Amino acid sequence: MQKKGILFVLSGPSGTGKGTVCKALLEKERELYLSVSATTRECRIGEIPGETYHYVTFDRFESMIANGEMLEYAKYNGNYYGTPGESVRKLLNEGKDVMLEIEPQGALQVKKIFPEAVLIFLVPPSMRVLKERLVNRGRETAEEIAQRLETTRWELTQADKYTTQIVNDNLEVCVHEVMAYLNKKRAEQEMIAALINEKLD
Ligand code: 5GP
Repeated sequence: MQKKGILFVLSGPSGTGKGTVCKALLEKERELYLSVSATTRECRIGEIPGETYHYVTFDRFESMIANGEMLEYAKYNGNYYGTPGESVRKLLNEGKDVMLEIEPQGALQVKKIFPEAVLIFLVPPSMRVLKERLVNRGRETAEEIAQRLETTRWELTQADKYTTQIVNDNLEVCVHEVMAYLNKKRAEQEMIAALINEKLD
């Protein structure tokens, strides 16, 4: 029987560095496949349609929900974000490990559908640092930043529902810790699979 891939979810509040950690991880981890999400938010300068996100209209997103095409989705700051299910299931069935980089409402939906998924919660070192990161990256208006920080307080209450929590204070250390955790989970699953298949006389 084909061994299934592992579904990893990297989640946490906006500004904790999910995107940066994920990018660094994928550069080091050739055997990890990033799922490309769909969103209704506008494409920003520097982003690549089909690579950063699949940019769709509200109508299209809602028909994808109605057709059961979304593995999970959430409304975040007025826009929909979601993971198209088919491509993720296909990769997992081919034995490939998949990474989702999503916000916590979606991560908790994934946990219900795939209880075996490995959920990593990235923790900001402090609320002050988080606010500084959001301000310095200059992508959101002051009002959006205030909204994101408000959402963060709820998101932090969900951290204990994850498989593990990793603090992102120093990027290099954080990426190293995430990679070590991924490899630990892979080794555990391989050991369990070997035990299941072990022949006894
Ligand atoms: P941004 O607008 O900054 O690209 O993303 C806003 C938030 O949506 C981030 O926390 C990001 O991780 C999250 N996000 C991106 N794609 C998805 C997705 O497919 N599902 C969910 N639930 N959240 C997502």
